[in-house]
Amino acid sequence: MKTIAVIGAGMAGITAARTLMQAGFKVSVFEKSHGPGGRMATRSTPYGSFDHGVQYFTVRDPQFLKAITEVPGTQAICRAWSANAVRVLDPLGRVIEAPLPLREPHFVAAPGMNALLKHWAQPLSDRGCLHLQSQVQFLLHSGKKQWQVVCSDGSEHGAFDGLVLAIPHVQADYLLRQSGSPATGFSGLEQMSHAEVAPCWTLMLAYPLANQPGLSHLGPQWNAARSTHHRIAWICRESSKPGRSSVERWTVQASAEWSQQHLEDESPRVQAKLLKAFAELTGIRAEPGFAQTHLWRYAKTLQAVGKKHLWDPKLQVGVCGDWLLGHRVEDAFVSGLSLALSLADKN
Ligand SMILES: Cc1cc2nc3c(=O)[nH]c(=O)nc-3n(C[C@H](O)[C@H](O)[C@H](O)COP(=O)(O)OP(=O)(O)OC[C@H]3O[C@@H](n4cnc5c(N)ncnc54)[C@H](O)[C@@H]3O)c2cc1C
Repeated sequence: MKTIAVIGAGMAGITAARTLMQAGFKVSVFEKSHGPGGRMATRSTPYGSFDHGVQYFTVRDPQFLKAITEVPGTQAICRAWSANAVRVLDPLGRVIEAPLPLREPHFVAAPGMNALLKHWAQPLSDRGCLHLQSQVQFLLHSGKKQWQVVCSDGSEHGAFDGLVLAIPHVQADYLLRQSGSPATGFSGLEQMSHAEVAPCWTLMLAYPLANQPGLSHLGPQWNAARSTHHRIAWICRESSKPGRSSVERWTVQASAEWSQQHLEDESPRVQAKLLKAFAELTGIRAEPGFAQTHLWRYAKTLQAVGKKHLWDPKLQVGVCGDWLLGHRVEDAFVSGLSLALSLADKN
């Protein structure tokens, strides 16, 4: 039985790991966070949850559709969310583009966006193959063409016949280079360098007072909007999503340009600036009962590599992730699946 280490438990990593396990590989997944999900993330707060990463996903690829509809238990988690009118707002909060009828269903996972990958990771977790809070810091190659992974707590795992890096390209590049030879000889390094990924500052806001008896919800009647405001690209009423608590909550995502310009700013400064822009767009000027920011350093692919995955047969090392194909959850799925199926084919 071939042994494979998968680094990263986002959509690409979990998809690759499940597929490899089903194909008979012995898989170990290493994830630096305390749960699977990656950017399909959910932040729990006393006022309810926030999907502070992925907002919704669409299903166009037939294999993604198959997974969503046929993996037991998944249909109950993936719920349609027709954000009543996704509008484009000008910097003063005026609607400049009429709401379009939805071209395709938008889905969210319930009760939070991380629920889908938690569910898909369960078989890996049940077999003791999912190592959480395990940040891989180093890749060691032994003389017998096998790999060991070294985590930031000093623990060593392996030996593995192959490695799958299912992490953002900047982090994959860093991990390979800092591991020295032979990892630095990964044949995909040059192609990886063509990817470009933008950061995203996210602001989470809760207005518990808006739910007092007699008051309807605060601010605009729409639940989600794209915006041309230079600071904000997207606003969404979290409480409008299925399976969430009703406390009035908004997630605000800054534009890629603004996030890049303010990458090294302190959180309080970012919060103040985004809150001001949020008030301009929504007319909500009340003080939030809860406000928190989160910085995604590698949020949205601006330039993809244009390949489903990269695999170095000599080193037995591969990379997968959304950044190879695009900027959506589905791209990460397709990439992880493609790498796993090609390995299953070869073995
Ligand atoms: C703010 C934001 C909004 C978005 N909105 C949408 C949307 O509405 N619709 C949509 O389809 N897509 C959206 N996306 C994009 C979507 O999140 C990604 O396409 C997809 O989730 C990427 O999955 P992935 O597995 O490739 O990477 P990730 O989800 O980033 O997974 C990588 C995992 O690797 C882990 N990791 C990294 N380094 C290490 C290491 N050294 N050791 C161990 N673990 C490590 C990370 O913790 C992470 O869990 C959004 C992203 C962001 C950030």
